[in-house]
Amino acid sequence: MKAALLAQDGSVLFEARRPTGREHGTDAVVAAILDFATDLADEGRSRFGVAPLAAGVAVPGTIDERNGIAVFSANLGWRDLPLRKLLGERLAGPDGSAMPVALGHDVRSGGLAEGRLGAGRGVDRFLFIALGTGIAGAIGIDGRIEAGAHGYGGEIGHVVVRPGGPQCGCGARGCLETLASASAVSRAWAEAGGDPDADAASCAAAVDAGDDRAIAVWQRAVDALADGIILAQSLLDPSTVIVGGGLAEAGDTLFTPLRTAVTERLTFQMPPKVVPAMLKDTAASLGAGLLAWDLLSLEVTA
Ligand SMILES: [Zn+2]
Repeated sequence: MKAALLAQDGSVLFEARRPTGREHGTDAVVAAILDFATDLADEGRSRFGVAPLAAGVAVPGTIDERNGIAVFSANLGWRDLPLRKLLGERLAGPDGSAMPVALGHDVRSGGLAEGRLGAGRGVDRFLFIALGTGIAGAIGIDGRIEAGAHGYGGEIGHVVVRPGGPQCGCGARGCLETLASASAVSRAWAEAGGDPDADAASCAAAVDAGDDRAIAVWQRAVDALADGIILAQSLLDPSTVIVGGGLAEAGDTLFTPLRTAVTERLTFQMPPKVVPAMLKDTAASLGAGLLAWDLLSLEVTA
């Protein structure tokens, strides 16, 4: 878990990290979140002499943002967890009134932070893509994230780019996530190179060293990703595509061929700027802080 105290101008006053403790079960994770938030509020009081005005929390999985319910997370094990209520009560003021709490989705919160504080500053239409274990995305419009009617907007990891391709966890075949996530690249490189412990980072290193097998694995992922980006470009016409997550750590090894592959596929679409994310793994926690400020209707304009 990553946490931060965020000032109204978006500057980070304090940052901390803790394990979720998920090996001890779902209840332990929830307790760890509430304890972490309490300690963070105490840190604010002792450092700055004032209590935080609001809190934000961003979690993975399916979220009902309006009702503050963490509906489901395969990783953390909860179902229909009323996280906003639990956190608001835990952080209640001395008069017993609950603290305002915003609940957000981890990738959409990360996209919000990239849009306002990171690689998307000053950009009014962007697509944020996180290439990690899976692939998720967020659609940035005018300083906010479009979550869709049911909270599934931006799920670019599950657009089919290779019909009949590899089986995806969602039930479909050939989803972008099965071809261009860090896990997919690790798997393909482990198979091609014969080393079961090989991962996406070692594939990127082998690409830099000129290894032909690694270059072939890498290019397959880049081509799939470019197909996904072009699909998004045709639908949404963003001016900027921000790419983050583990695979983006490869830097130019990813971005140089990716920009080429996107450019080659353009027909009528205007070319998007394809840029690396800036906020790394703190993006979601900063986005949660921005959601908290938004609750107070005090827009952060860093
Ligand atoms: Zn899928």
